[in-house]
Order: sequence, then C-alpha cells, then structure tokens
Amino acid sequence: MRTRWRAGHVLAHQHGGHRLLRDGEIVWEDDTLVHVGGHYPGHVDEDRDLGADTLVLPGLIDLDALTDIDHLVLDSWAGPDLAPGHQWSLDYFTHRRRDVFTPAERRTVRHYALVQLALHGITTYMPIASEIHSSWAEPYEELTAMAEESRGIGLRGYLGPAYRSGVNIALPDGGRDVAFDEERGREGLRDAVRFLDHAASLGDPLVNGVLLPCRIETLTEELLRETADVARRRDALVRLHCLQGLLERELTERRHGVTPLRLLERTGLLGTRLLVPHGLVTDRHPRVHGEDRGDLDTLARHGVSVVHCPQTSLRYGEVLRSFGSYRRAGVNLCLGTDSFPPDLVRGMDAGIHLAKIVDGRHDAAPAEHYVEAATLGGARALGRPDLGRLEPGAQADLVAFRTDDIRDGVQDDPVRTFLLNGTARQATHSVVAGRPVLVDGGIPGVDLADLRQRAQHLFARMRAAYSARDTLRRDADTLFPPTFPPFDHDAPH
Ligand SMILES: [Zn+2]
Repeated sequence: MRTRWRAGHVLAHQHGGHRLLRDGEIVWEDDTLVHVGGHYPGHVDEDRDLGADTLVLPGLIDLDALTDIDHLVLDSWAGPDLAPGHQWSLDYFTHRRRDVFTPAERRTVRHYALVQLALHGITTYMPIASEIHSSWAEPYEELTAMAEESRGIGLRGYLGPAYRSGVNIALPDGGRDVAFDEERGREGLRDAVRFLDHAASLGDPLVNGVLLPCRIETLTEELLRETADVARRRDALVRLHCLQGLLERELTERRHGVTPLRLLERTGLLGTRLLVPHGLVTDRHPRVHGEDRGDLDTLARHGVSVVHCPQTSLRYGEVLRSFGSYRRAGVNLCLGTDSFPPDLVRGMDAGIHLAKIVDGRHDAAPAEHYVEAATLGGARALGRPDLGRLEPGAQADLVAFRTDDIRDGVQDDPVRTFLLNGTARQATHSVVAGRPVLVDGGIPGVDLADLRQRAQHLFARMRAAYSARDTLRRDADTLFPPTFPPFDHDAPH
C-alpha cells in the first residue's frame, strides 16, 4: 500500500541534514518512506493534498513526555509557605500513603495524556508521570495497560514502569529529605525487567521497553548499579532524572558524598546510553561554579543525551546554561515537554529566547538547532537513525501543521515563522510507521468532548488529594488559592 502526501513546505532530509523542500511530495509504502522530493511518477493507492499553506515535519520526538493530568497548573506558582504542601509529609509516607486513582482511572489518565501528545503532533514519546498521586511508583500492570492504550492510538512509545527506593518528603521543620523503603525499589526493578520481557513479547515495533528509574536522589546506590547492569545486559536505554536541581545535588552529596554526576560515573550508568532529563545543574550553573570545569565533556564523552525541556524549565524559573554550550561541547540534545501543555513548538520558541538571554546574543540557539533537537537529536538518543528524518528508507513518522490562518501572520522562512508565531495546536495530520494517528485535527474513534469531561472530574479528585499529604493538612482551596477573590453576589449595588 502506497500513500502520498503533497504539501507546500516539507522539511526533507538530504546530504546528512534537514533541507527545505518547496511543493514537496512524500510517499511511503507500509511503514517506510520511499520518496521525498518533487513529483513522484509512480502509482499510489492513497493521495492527500495538504495544500500550499502546510508545513510537514518529521514526527516530533518527546523524550520526557507528560503522560498524566496537568500538575504544573497547581505547583508552579506557589511561594515558600505553600510549596512544601505539594510534597508528601513524613506522616503521609509512614502511615497514610495510598493510590489516589483506581487502576481503571489511571488507564483513563494515560489515555487522556496520550491523546494530548498525538493532538500536539508528537509521534514518538518516552513517558513521565507524577508519582505523587500513587502509593509508591508505577505498577507493572499500569504500564502494560498503557502499552495497550498507546497501541490503540498508534504512537511510538518507549515505555517502562518508573521505580524508586525512596520518596521526596517535606519535614515538619520545613526541611527536605528522602524517605526510603528499599525493598519497594528492588521490587520496582524486577517489574521493570519483567516489562522489558513483556514489551519484547508483543513483537510490536511501536512498543519498546526501556528502564525508567525516577530521580537520582530517590534511588539507592545498589539500585543504580543494578540498573546499569541490566541496561548493559539487555542493551536497554535508561532515562534517569538527574542534574535537575540544587536540592537534588544537596541530597545526593549528603547521602553519597559525591555530586550526582560522579554518582552516575561510580555506579556505571555513564557507560550506558543514558538519557538525562533537564541536565540543568552542571558546573556551569551559577550556584555551582559558574563555569565549565569538565562536566559537559564528561557527558559528551559518555554519549549521554540531555532531554532539554525548555518550557518546563522556564515555568519553574530555571534555564539551561546554555543550549549552545552543551551543543558545542558535543552533548546530544533532544527535547521533552515534561509538563502540560505538551507543545514542543511553544517549547522550542521558549528555548530559543531563553538562550538569547543566557548567552547575550540573538543567534545563541537558532530555530534550526531546536528543530534538529526535536527530531534528529531524539532519534540519536534512541539509537534510531531511521527516525526524525524524512528521506527514503526512514520510518514514515511525520506530522503536518497548517499555517493558513490570518493569525499565523505573513510567512517568511516556513520553519522560523512557524516557531515564532505558531503552536503545536496547528497539527492537523500525523502518521506513525505509515499509519494515520491524527486525521483532520482529530483522532479517529476518540470522543474528545467526553474525554475532556472525564479528565476534569479526575483532576478535581487529584487536586483534593493534596490535602492529606500536606504536613499541615491544609485543604485544597488553601493550598491552591484563586488568583482573585470570588465575586460577591450579595454586595449592595
Ligand atoms: Zn522531567
């Protein structure tokens, strides 16, 4: 079966890099691209003309993809009084921890999140979810269910149950620590290995097993070492949140006597194809040394990929220092959304402008470097030279964005104009392994209005559940006060 897309602008791949193709045609047979260029003379079974005002990109690769309900709307703006209330208290950890959602509700949450990824033009993802709503981390069965949801929608997933030996907690005196239950960590790794077997047994190229330990400060040294061993034995990718914040660095130094980067080295994790989300706190960070003392070279030498999440960083008041420095040092940069909305287009735009501030020049991180990170960088992190590029022989993973709304403005270079003026909401069509996922802005078989209502209902439960975890047991409306007071209907006119 041969399918053709025609579009005004195509980001094709030629001579080892992306190229702008005007009035292009893309043809694929089954899951593989067979033609990217001008007029295709052969027969096609299905033909779609997407119009002159469409930009077709390789499918976006999101390696820290939110597969959860929004939490940033709750926890990205609180001051020092309220922020500790978003963590687990020691009392909750010891006596009252529980799952906020039933397994069936978790499945709805995952479905909702995967639909969001698809609607935002993402074709390949590695999930991240907040474990704060679960009694521990991610159960094996939750991930097997998620794999089925993922296959139903048709996205390309790199999945595994997240595991950890400990949980970040807020102490009654306002301090922070990690509370451990080491056996839960070992159990989690056993389930993660089981999931690698499960993913392999499915024989579906769209479900790939990976190891997803939670955050470096929540893992024992033993579990880090064993993760590295399994990764080497099974040739599995590992993604580990680390180099993310100053508290993580402090907790790691307190417990292990070394920095997070040295701990990665010591446990053998740097010897694997490691993916590090955020990667913000290296020696270049102003509260560390403020200058490069070799951390970037260490990351580059070991082939570590940094999953840069510019929109999340910005919204939590952080910034990568800097996109250009990491890139020049040879660190592979790929992208993640990490929080809602999973809009890599807005994310790239945020990153481009943050880089200008950090490096003090307008060309610090041009649009083309960010688009490379969202496509080729992600493919490199996954060890998949057949992803992230539109050229014959590559996988047919692609996404079309419409740019014909007057609010899109006048068009200059199609990529630069789109990143400056656009959003991933303009995605109208996407294809993964040759099969349609997003069609005319919707997902066949998914009732978006119904899903929206169900998610809102679950969000209300999730929001209310913060109260039981807060050290001070404040209710949700105290923890999350409104922006402005409610209107007073009883006031005299
Ligand atoms: Zn993250």
